[in-house]
Amino acid sequence: MENCIFCKIIKGEIPSKKVYEDDRIFVIEDIGPQAPLHLLVLPKKHFANCLDMTAEDEALVGYAYRKAGEIAVQKGYAESGFRIVQNNGEGAGQSVFHIHFHLLAGRDFTWPPG
Ligand code: AMP
Ligand code: ZN
Repeated sequence: MENCIFCKIIKGEIPSKKVYEDDRIFVIEDIGPQAPLHLLVLPKKHFANCLDMTAEDEALVGYAYRKAGEIAVQKGYAESGFRIVQNNGEGAGQSVFHIHFHLLAGRDFTWPPG
């Protein structure tokens, strides 16, 4: 989608620190890390968030979620635990309206989240 920063990153039009890519997802380091490990798992298909998601997207979202866990394990955070976060709407902290999962690890996390 035009003017979407994550679509531009996926297309290589904006530089990013890529850690993984396949035909369905693109994984980068977050530019403003909130934990020692802070990655963004970006489905390559553009839609804003869960409110903009169709039944057709269910497998893709499930895949992105599973890969986030797989990467956490690869990075050595299976034992310590890790957090996968997805914000929906400005009020919940969403600032980029292209669906993505945050993968956060490497520090203690509080509950409830801020
Ligand atoms: P959210 O606020 O849930 O929409 O998450 C958007 C995330 O994208 C934030 O954590 C930002 O730090 C991150 N971000 C914004 N621009 C970039 C960029 N150019 N490269 C990497 N991460 C970015
Ligand atoms: Zn996009």
